[in-house]
Amino acid sequence: MSKPMHRSRSFRRLDRVTPKGRHVLHFKRKANSLPHCAICKNELNGISMNPRGKSTSTNSRKFGGVLCSSCTGKVIKLASRIEHGEMKLNDISIVDRAFVLQMISH
Ligand SMILES: [Zn+2]
Repeated sequence: MSKPMHRSRSFRRLDRVTPKGRHVLHFKRKANSLPHCAICKNELNGISMNPRGKSTSTNSRKFGGVLCSSCTGKVIKLASRIEHGEMKLNDISIVDRAFVLQMISH
């Protein structure tokens, strides 16, 4: 029986045959998926991932590593319109609202 840690599906199973002809299982961590935008679900640009799944670089702008650049622009625009009374919170979709509220509170 494999070790308890290897029973997790975060590990890929690799069937290997040793030089003596024994059949063994090797375990390898699955690669993490790339980060996606929280609004439009597109892959984020400008984030490099190392093989262990930790990002080595990210964007330093607002919502960097969370939202893509076009969604960040949209959120900033909406937040400014609400602050100046041109729009109301109820006019915004519920997905964008959380980020707009975060912008206004800062
Ligand atoms: Zn987006």
